[in-house]
Amino acid sequence: MYDLIVIGGGPAGLAGACAAWEAGLRRILIVERDRELGGILNQCIHNGFGLHYFKEELTGPEYAGRFIEMLRDTGVEVRLDTMVLEVTDQRKVHMVGKDTGYRVEEAKSILLAMGCRERTRGAIAIPGTRPAGIFTAGAAQRYVNMEGWLPGKRVVILGSGDIGLIMARRMTLEGAKVLACVEVMPYSGGLNRNIVQCLHDYDIPLYLSHTVTDIRGVNRVEQVVVSQVDDRRQPIPGTEMVFDCDTLLLSVGLIPENELTRQAGIAIDPRTNGAVVWENMETSLPGVFASGNVAHVHDLVDFVTAESQRAGTAAARYVLEGEAAEGDALEIVNGDGVSYTVPQHVRPGRVEKACDLFFRVNRVCGPSRIKVTSGDKQIAAFSRDYLAPGEMEHILLPRKLLDGASETLCVSIEEVESE
Ligand SMILES: Cc1cc2nc3c(=O)[nH]c(=O)nc-3n(C[C@H](O)[C@H](O)[C@H](O)COP(=O)(O)OP(=O)(O)OC[C@H]3O[C@@H](n4cnc5c(N)ncnc54)[C@H](O)[C@@H]3O)c2cc1C
Repeated sequence: MYDLIVIGGGPAGLAGACAAWEAGLRRILIVERDRELGGILNQCIHNGFGLHYFKEELTGPEYAGRFIEMLRDTGVEVRLDTMVLEVTDQRKVHMVGKDTGYRVEEAKSILLAMGCRERTRGAIAIPGTRPAGIFTAGAAQRYVNMEGWLPGKRVVILGSGDIGLIMARRMTLEGAKVLACVEVMPYSGGLNRNIVQCLHDYDIPLYLSHTVTDIRGVNRVEQVVVSQVDDRRQPIPGTEMVFDCDTLLLSVGLIPENELTRQAGIAIDPRTNGAVVWENMETSLPGVFASGNVAHVHDLVDFVTAESQRAGTAAARYVLEGEAAEGDALEIVNGDGVSYTVPQHVRPGRVEKACDLFFRVNRVCGPSRIKVTSGDKQIAAFSRDYLAPGEMEHILLPRKLLDGASETLCVSIEEVESE
């Protein structure tokens, strides 16, 4: 019987396993379906990772490498080329591996760290023919950065999330011509720094409030039609632009990989598409924790690391100290301007100094106040100059504020006049 089984060897799984080892667990197993540890970071060869955590700018593989190095100093067991097929509510983990075959392992605790996958053409139903040359941006990134293939020469990118923006620059650097980045919303879904460094610096036009309305081509993509959309995101006739291209890259959203989570009967939050979690990242199934992109989509890996360290430490506490008494719990609800919060529930009695609260806003806001209220009472407020749905927000709620709260905490956004 393992103390902890970690499912997924990306940054979330690595940080969670290291933290659990540091906190005293000794029988830890990481199960990874890929041929190496590191997760999505292995294909992110651009820099910009680790600014918060290591206070230096690293590439994705370098960032993952640091944690793989830390893991070497522990006795954590790793099974590569092994896919977890099922997790039961009794914490039995069914897996199949290249060398080990089908195995069922038992664990006192589990960390779900399976990351997320990309939305495909089918998920957003783009009309047109079905030629070759349509890739998700992450798949194209893997081809270019890991397998050594350039997927096309004249490219249109749909979606201005970070993966799309990064790939606009990457394809340009590899000699392709990126004709346009097209975004259905009136604002970009990516980090501001990526818009500047990946589009503006290479004169790649960004068409906001536009979408792809037709794909043409028989064997290979030949043309992509882009139209402007109205307030209800419906294409406006007469605004069509035709791009002669051989490739369409899709960067239209990420979906947390929660098939195993659902199957285990763990409660899912429809707003995050991840498990509903407590302040220590424990799910509705005691002893099962979730962190990283499987819990909610992150834009910065540093936050994935910090969150997963919390989850790993909490798993160790669960195993070594046993299940703690429930205590009073607060539900966190979304107020005006907030689309989700993680965690969704807090037990103030289990918060040491402060509770990390992550959330996303549902519209672009100028100078704003983030308000936290309990009943009619405002218990905390934080100022921001700018808020956007593409950038995850983080606030810290000190324990003493939580002790004074009752039943619910509401997080909302109030735009304020700029001075
Ligand atoms: C293109 C791109 C660019 C990015 N750029 C930046 C950046 O510049 N700066 C930054 O800080 N962050 C960036 N990020 C974000 C950061 O990389 C992610 O937030 C982080 O990698 C998420 O870590 P994770 O461990 O949760 O998921 P992942 O890295 O996806 O790891 C999940 C792992 O779980 C494994 N797995 C899944 N299911 C199973 C199963 N059933 N059995 C076994 N194994 C399984 C997968 O194979 C994978 O290795 C970027 C992300 C992408 C995709």
